[in-house]
Amino acid sequence: MRIALERDGKTPLYQQIEAYLRQAILAGSLPPETRLPASRKLASDLGVNRITVEKAYAGLEADGLVFSQVGSGTYVLPPPGPPQARAAPGAPWPLWQQELQARQPVASAPAPEILLAEAGHPDPIDFSSGSGDAQRFPVEELRRVIQAILRRDGIAALEYGERGCSERGYTPLRSTIAQVLASQGLPAGPENILITSGSQQALALAAQALLQPGEVVLVESPTYSGALELFRLLALRIAGVPVDDNGLQIEKLEALLQQQHPKLIYTIPNFHNPTGACLNASRRRQLVELAGRYNLPILEDDFVGDLRYEGRTQPALKALDPDGRVVYTSTFSKMLMPGLRVGFLVASGPVYERLVAGKRVSDLATSSLTQRALEAYVTVGRYQAHLRRSCQVYRKRRDAMLHAIKRYLSSGVQFSPPQGGLFVWLRLPGALNAEDLLPLACEQGVAFAPGGRFFPADAAVNAGYLRLNFAVQTPERIQAGMQRLGKALRRLKAGAA
Ligand code: PMP
Repeated sequence: MRIALERDGKTPLYQQIEAYLRQAILAGSLPPETRLPASRKLASDLGVNRITVEKAYAGLEADGLVFSQVGSGTYVLPPPGPPQARAAPGAPWPLWQQELQARQPVASAPAPEILLAEAGHPDPIDFSSGSGDAQRFPVEELRRVIQAILRRDGIAALEYGERGCSERGYTPLRSTIAQVLASQGLPAGPENILITSGSQQALALAAQALLQPGEVVLVESPTYSGALELFRLLALRIAGVPVDDNGLQIEKLEALLQQQHPKLIYTIPNFHNPTGACLNASRRRQLVELAGRYNLPILEDDFVGDLRYEGRTQPALKALDPDGRVVYTSTFSKMLMPGLRVGFLVASGPVYERLVAGKRVSDLATSSLTQRALEAYVTVGRYQAHLRRSCQVYRKRRDAMLHAIKRYLSSGVQFSPPQGGLFVWLRLPGALNAEDLLPLACEQGVAFAPGGRFFPADAAVNAGYLRLNFAVQTPERIQAGMQRLGKALRRLKAGAA
């Protein structure tokens, strides 16, 4: 090996040798696994001391460019490159990863909003979302409230929370929620309330506190897909109870209780996701009574209970609960904004402390700053005003949606007008499949949530349903979107004929 050395230069000889070799390795002219000359040999070729060469090799080894094996020599290592997703394309994952994949396949149907974006329509209209209208988020008011909180509370707003009970949530917020609930006929004290990071966390805490892997959870069929995903991830067995326009079909429940021995029933009694149905008063009473008789906890998910546009308010199951058989959850995600990630649960009895312990190990506490800001916002009555206005806006949009469905989709499509919430649930005529309709709809520039994904089993059998969120678009865009959906439906029918 020839290396031109500047013997009179300022840079020491070992550094010159090291720099030459480093450059050759990084450029690839000394490829991986090349054996470098023995130090004695290179020293003699270059006319330098052997220790000079050994110092150069040591520098390269310290930087991970070569490795030395005693008695064998010094070898070039692969040059450090950008981290690769996988060492070699197509190489198998480690066994533990393969086992994980086989044990818990994670659902991976493409999200409708992604398909819609990929279709490249210049003005897409998306009805697939699960939340309220982002345009209605009170951004400016929240900014002012956060500034005021930082001025008022300073560092306290940026700590975990109150010493000794930060995991339960900011006490004034829990008191405010308790007052709001009491005004709605659900008596609860702050000591029964646990603030969670969205109601999704409340569902996870309850499921983890109440069930072991392999045990059965009863759900409405269909139900909220995020709950199904959670229960599947926890390796629970899921059994479905059919729903109709009055919610969960209580007369089918008792047989299931006897056959399946569930450890929990998860229900969305108000403006159910995805069907929009509301559980009627007598079924509510029967459900709570059955839960008592069969020693079965109820997890009540009241995600949009405040968004009622007509009809009489129904009591929460928790309000009918005589002895702590119901765990109630709700959220500020739909009525206010989902990015706050503030939800809560109400529980009484020993289960409350289990849920608190679960919260502690899950994420220690929900953001203190956000809770304080939310408490200030709710207390001054802005929240109630926002809610009233949202109800007015969403009622108009629901009416626009029902009208547009009748006008543009009518032939053979079935649906029931919801009294509140965010969703209309449609059944396509004949054997038409909503998963087949979705790409055609996206081509036309409109998307929805295909219904099969909300069923605990038999997604293919139930592929004739779809969910439309009427709250996220203006009446004009609802009309345009339904017109496009009508076109896509006619194309699907023509293809199926
Ligand atoms: N329950 C239902 C029925 C939902 O639809 C959702 C969200 N789409 C949640 C719970 C969870 O919402 P968050 O965590 O934002 O409160």
